[in-house]
Amino acid sequence: LAVKGVQALSPYQPGKPIEELARELGLNPSEIIKLASNENPLGPSDKALSAARNALDEMCLYPDGNGFDLKQALARRFGVEMSQITLGNGSNDVLEVIARCFVDSDSEVVFSQYAFAVYPLVTQAIGARGVAVPAKDWGHDLDAMADAVTERTKLVFVANPNNPTGTVHTADAIEAFLDRIPEQVLVVLDEAYCEYLVGDEYPDGIRLLDKYPNLIVCRTFSKAWGLAALRVGYSISSPAIADILNRVRQPFNVDTVALAAATAVLEDEAYLQKSREVNEAGLQQLAEGFDRMGLSYIPSAGNFIAVEVGEPAAGIYQALLAHGVIVRPVAGYGMPRHLRVSVGLPQENERFLDALAEALASAG
Ligand code: PMP
Repeated sequence: LAVKGVQALSPYQPGKPIEELARELGLNPSEIIKLASNENPLGPSDKALSAARNALDEMCLYPDGNGFDLKQALARRFGVEMSQITLGNGSNDVLEVIARCFVDSDSEVVFSQYAFAVYPLVTQAIGARGVAVPAKDWGHDLDAMADAVTERTKLVFVANPNNPTGTVHTADAIEAFLDRIPEQVLVVLDEAYCEYLVGDEYPDGIRLLDKYPNLIVCRTFSKAWGLAALRVGYSISSPAIADILNRVRQPFNVDTVALAAATAVLEDEAYLQKSREVNEAGLQQLAEGFDRMGLSYIPSAGNFIAVEVGEPAAGIYQALLAHGVIVRPVAGYGMPRHLRVSVGLPQENERFLDALAEALASAG
C-alpha cells in the first residue's frame, strides 16, 4: 500500500533500550550502561530541569506554536533575526521538513557515504534519488560531493562533525565547498555536535549565512545541551527559507516543556562548559584505552568514537551486551568492522573498556 520510496525504507535503528537489556540479563537497569545514542552523560542541567517542571503546570494548554521565547533567546545568542529560525521536534524533524519542502520525486539529494542515517531516510521517503558519495579517510569528500551535483540536485547534506565517524572539516574547507555549489541547490550544514568543537579553524555555519543564501544550518539541544528526550532542534537560514519551513512544519511541533527547558538551558553556560570538559576527557580516556589494546579508531570531534574491533563487530557487540554495556553497531552504515561508542562519565568509559578487553580476549 505504501508509496514506492516508503516501501524501500529500512527503519532508523535506535540504540537498544536499557530496560530491555536489563530484562534479558535479569539485571537491575542501574547495572546497565548505555553508550549508544550520543547522549549527554551528565544528566540534565538544573536550570533546564526546574524550567521543565514549572512548565508542566501548563500541560492542558497548547504550546506557543511560534516558540517565541526560545527563538528570541537563540536570536540573541547567535546575532540573527527570529525570522531566520525554524524550530523542530529534534533536528531530525527539521531535516525531514527541509526535504519535504524542497525535494520532489524527480530530485537528487547528495550526501556522503557513512553520513548520518536520516539523510537517506528522508530522501527515500519522498521517492527522490539519494546520491551517496564515497568517503575519503572516513570523512566527507567535499570535492567529490560538489562534483556529484547535477541539474537534478536540490539538496546536499553535510554533517560537520559527522555521525558516526566523528570526522570534521575546517571552516576553510566548508567555504571552499560552498563556493562550488550553485545557488539554486540548498546545502544543509548539520552541526548537531558543533558545541564540542574547540578552536577557531572550525566553522560556525551561522557566520556563513550572509555569504551563502542557499545555506541552512541545523543544530540540536540533544547533545551538548543534554535535552535528547525532549526533542528540540532548530535551523537557521535566510528568512525566505525559514518562512517556507515554518509553513510546512507541524504547528505545535515543539511542546511547552521542551520549549521551556531549551530556553532555560541556553542560560546555563556552566553546564555547556562541563559537557565539553567531560567530553574532551572522555574522548582521551577512550582513545588511550584503544591504544593500549592496539585497536584503531577514527579520531572524533563529536561525543562518540568509532573503534575498529574486527569483522564482524556484531560478535563483540553481543559480548558487550552480555557484560551489560550497550554500544552501537554501525554495519548499517557500511562499517561492519567498527562499533560506535558514546563518551560516558569516567567510570562508564572504564567499564566499557574493561568489557571490551574481555570481549576481545574471549573472541580470541
Ligand atoms: N544530525 C546528526 C548528525 C545526528 O547525529 C543526530 C542525532 N543522532 C541528529 C542530527 C538528530 O538529533 P535530534 O533529532 O535529537 O536533534
